Amino acid sequence: MLLIGSHVSFTSKEQLVISVKEAISYGANSFMFYTGAPQNTKRCKIDYDLTLKARNLLYDNNIELKNIVVHAPYIINLANNEKEDNYRFAIKFLKEEINRVSMLGIEKLVLHPGSYVNLDLETGINNVINALNEVIAPNQSVKICLETMAGKGSEICFDINHIKRIIDKVKYSDKLMVCLDTCHLNDAGYDMSKFDEFLDEFDKLIGIDKIGCVHVNDSKNIIGSHKDRHENIGYGTIGFDALLNVIYNKRLDNIPMILETPYVSDEDGNKRVYPPYKFEIDMIKDKKFNKNLYDDITKYYERLK
Ligand code: FE
Ligand code: FE
Ligand code: ZN
Repeated sequence: MLLIGSHVSFTSKEQLVISVKEAISYGANSFMFYTGAPQNTKRCKIDYDLTLKARNLLYDNNIELKNIVVHAPYIINLANNEKEDNYRFAIKFLKEEINRVSMLGIEKLVLHPGSYVNLDLETGINNVINALNEVIAPNQSVKICLETMAGKGSEICFDINHIKRIIDKVKYSDKLMVCLDTCHLNDAGYDMSKFDEFLDEFDKLIGIDKIGCVHVNDSKNIIGSHKDRHENIGYGTIGFDALLNVIYNKRLDNIPMILETPYVSDEDGNKRVYPPYKFEIDMIKDKKFNKNLYDDITKYYERLK
């Protein structure tokens, strides 16, 4: 079955309830959210009643809890331990985040492995291995999905060999999975027009069964650019057909496909105003590129105002 959804919001007041409502408004049967702002670590207590309410809403709309994904804040950096306090904080925060995720009943947590900053790649990878060995408890239900990165700055895991090395060295590696991001893979130098060959390589190295979710994004930049700037589906350098081949790939059946594409400007040109997801999901379900995507989105949301 095709599992398609997008990044949605989560607020301290309405928590998972608002995320589910937003996902439903896009026609999604899967989704991803941050338990607070992506760029900070301020987090609220998970409320039992709100979680129950959200679960009923999910049930009524045929969305399964196991198809929902949480993304850890991207300032968490396990690859750099220059400042001991920051490294310790990241480990502690991640343990707490795993708790929040399991209280919500969710099984997958996406994590950016991190950046080595002033250290070197080897040290960065080893720092992540050591941190994960501290973070992961043998009995936890949550799987950490290591995301493939673009290799911007000193990011690690732009090469799937880095991910393999981490999985090989983490004690409870059954708690680790991988999140493929098509924009990041393209920017890292993997050719998304030859995605089946990429999957063969991934399968040999890590195993397809380790893929926990896919971030489906087009890219603003050419292959190998190491930039990490997402583009709307079919409007970037990867293109609609190559992305459809990822989304409908038989080997990725039943794996959540999550859009993290940019919001669209309003008529006055204000950026990050309207979410594109409802229309991108339509385009994906129809398997037909919408060349009027931006117009359709602005018209729809201007009318709702
Ligand atoms: Fe990410
Ligand atoms: Fe991503
Ligand atoms: Zn990205």
